[in-house]
Amino acid sequence: MSLLVQKYGGTSVGNPERIRHVARRVIDTQRAGHRVVTVVSAMSGVTDGLIKLAHEVSPDPTEREMDVLLATGEQTTIALLAMAIDALGARAVSLTGAQAGIVTDGVHTQAKIANITPKQILHHLDDGAVVIVAGFQGQTMQGQVTTLGRGGSDLTAIAIASAIGADLCQIFTDVDGVYTCDPRLVPTARKLPELSYEEMLEMASLGSKVMQSRSVEFAKKFGVRFEVRSSFNDNPGTMIIDETPSMENVVIRGLSVEKNQAKVTVGAVPDRPGTAARVFNALAEARVVIDMIVQNVSANGQTDISFTLNKADLARAEEVLRPVVAEIGAGGLAARGEIAKLSVVGIGMRSHSGVAAKLFDCLARGGINIQMITTSEIKIAVIIDEASVAEAANLTHAAFGLEQGAYTA
Ligand code: ADP
Ligand code: ASP
Ligand code: MG
Repeated sequence: MSLLVQKYGGTSVGNPERIRHVARRVIDTQRAGHRVVTVVSAMSGVTDGLIKLAHEVSPDPTEREMDVLLATGEQTTIALLAMAIDALGARAVSLTGAQAGIVTDGVHTQAKIANITPKQILHHLDDGAVVIVAGFQGQTMQGQVTTLGRGGSDLTAIAIASAIGADLCQIFTDVDGVYTCDPRLVPTARKLPELSYEEMLEMASLGSKVMQSRSVEFAKKFGVRFEVRSSFNDNPGTMIIDETPSMENVVIRGLSVEKNQAKVTVGAVPDRPGTAARVFNALAEARVVIDMIVQNVSANGQTDISFTLNKADLARAEEVLRPVVAEIGAGGLAARGEIAKLSVVGIGMRSHSGVAAKLFDCLARGGINIQMITTSEIKIAVIIDEASVAEAANLTHAAFGLEQGAYTA
């Protein structure tokens, strides 16, 4: 008998029929002899709908009230799933994040889990019930409702699996596993039977939203075993595993795409100590998250600083930078939305050369202009026009032969 945490995402619980389907799967798992904790998301579209509603009553809703509102999405699903399980003759108990003992810091809408005291979860499990926990939410020490950032039910599941010492955390979603690229963007994408924590983490943080990146970080740190698989069939999914020596041969495991990016250039910046600090301090104070940063070689005592950010933060960034540009005597400020980031990820990049050349060559042949480039040990990322991102992803996927699975040396 094993102890399992099963997480079902928004599409998997998107309507009453699907909730009944999940109820049957959970009961079957329990009848097969396992103890099960189920974590669920809000029904698909519900979180987005609540955010929209909030903005219809207020131009700038407070983050505290946003959390109180958004937490209702998951709360609806836990009750419905518990009722569905009950109707099928098994026993289930639903728990909110707070009841499940999830304590977070006080950063509303982006809270971090501080600790979990799974007393109620363990009590109900010992009692033979299926325990259903609301994903994405927690409570501060002071009793305030918090949420864990978009996609945060993945984090709830991984963190509970760690806290109760589960044998496995199963992330059930609307695709069969983690693919070489988002199959909605690249139809020839192939399911990966396994990948390392580090590769999964890079792919998630570079835009592959199949897993929330913070949840992967947590799993890696605490060694939580997890798999990603479909809630609609029994096909084997993708296991996330510790790196093995043979993985060094995997040059490219997958390809990630992140849309809705923007680029800002502060032009003709006087090349003297402190100017970059002034620019990025102003952005940090406004809580604008910066991704890539490029500074040109200085010419005539002046340089350009460009950086990328989420398009949603662009207006705020421009607003805080305008006075800074004047203050430091820079030449101007240029902003551009409609850009996207395309990245290739693989552990073997550490020890194999030629990946950058192959990527740039493939984009060049497609007539796709590269606006910025960054690299890390196991990834190369480029910024391109958003309009060409689907074409670029398909070309790159083909250039590395990823329709056969990972590209190995
Ligand atoms: P859930 O609601 O179950 O949490 P998400 O919508 O958050 O599901 O994540 C699943 C989606 O992630 C898929 O439908 C797919 O379009 C997208 N996705 C992005 N990159 C990948 C990838 N590399 N492999 C599989 N799915 C991916
Ligand atoms: N319901 C939340 C969201 O849509 C959390 C989740 O689904 O994981 O982001
Ligand atoms: Mg998700």
